Amino acid sequence: MSPPPPPRGPRLDVIRDDVRAMRAYAVPDATGLIKLDAMENPFALPADLARELGERLSQVALNRYPPADPTRFKQRLARVAGLPAGAALMLGNGSDELIHLMIQACARPDVPGGAVVLGPTPGFVMVEVFARLDGCRFVGVALRPDFELDVKAMCQAIDAHRPALLFIAYPNNPTGNLFSRAGLEQVLDRAPGLVVIDEAYLPFAQDTWMPQLAARPNLVVLRTLSKLGLAGVRLGYACADPAWIGEFDKVRPPYNVGVLPLTAADFLLDHFDVLHQQAALIRSERARLLDALRAQPQVTAFDSAANFVLFRVAQPQALFAGLRGRGILLKDVSGAHPLLAGCLRVTVGTPQENDAFLQALGALL
Ligand SMILES: *Cc1c(COP(=O)(O)O)cnc(C)c1O
Repeated sequence: MSPPPPPRGPRLDVIRDDVRAMRAYAVPDATGLIKLDAMENPFALPADLARELGERLSQVALNRYPPADPTRFKQRLARVAGLPAGAALMLGNGSDELIHLMIQACARPDVPGGAVVLGPTPGFVMVEVFARLDGCRFVGVALRPDFELDVKAMCQAIDAHRPALLFIAYPNNPTGNLFSRAGLEQVLDRAPGLVVIDEAYLPFAQDTWMPQLAARPNLVVLRTLSKLGLAGVRLGYACADPAWIGEFDKVRPPYNVGVLPLTAADFLLDHFDVLHQQAALIRSERARLLDALRAQPQVTAFDSAANFVLFRVAQPQALFAGLRGRGILLKDVSGAHPLLAGCLRVTVGTPQENDAFLQALGALL
């Protein structure tokens, strides 16, 4: 007897049920809009630097795989990043990839229910997504209504769930605040496993846990060049004890960072002063944006140490749509978590973009 004919069309039933039930990460079309939704640096590279970079990129051997371990670049990056002596560094295709690698490395399918990844909520959404994909159990602990860590609830949850991995974004996304250092110290002291502090917004927060690597053997400090102005390059790095990096490295796909990002980052490392000047301007625009938002009685704007500001209004969806109609794209996070009710997130743009946003806001409120 011949086997039954295969069904027509793609056999999607081989795809995991949970994956089929998911939705892909949505990136809205921003064509023609002022793009204040994705925490990008709004400033381009100066033209002379861009030309020189182009020259450098034109010399790259695209027919060759990237170096397996770009030691010289990593040493230079380590110096710029202030990596403490004795710590090691690993590169990723964005810090998103590194978060995924670390979670994969801790996932332990042999633990009933999966290993636990724990973090405050609302927090960086990709952590929960990767945790679920890797068969981990994500435990979210609600922040306080002022978005500060609930230290007591965090410690209780850590004791109850014994997380393999504790994830903290510092400053937090989407709330933008830096957690109190003393409170966070208590939480870190309580964690039994790996602790990741994600410093994606370091250029705007200027507050780091990097020197703590020496004293905290289970700490990973995660960084990225994305928010500094190189979101399109896709380069992140994780800093930790070499023993941790050695384990993560086994999970890393070979050649995970291409020669073009490597070469671009290597070139721009010598010109970080330009990007840091842009970050300084973004910080001063952030202060101006906050003041202007707080001058509106219908708006509650929250303190930010990042390159975005979270604010609350009575009708977030209507305001989001109204701004979009006026050519300004924000991120509506009002439905993402109960603590974010009424909240929109605006990325700090150029002075002109921020003026356009404030003017449209004033007209719509
Ligand atoms: C934007 C962001 C990242 C993503 O960084 P990439 O390096 O671009 O992948 C990581 N963590 C947090 C908290 C972020 O907000």
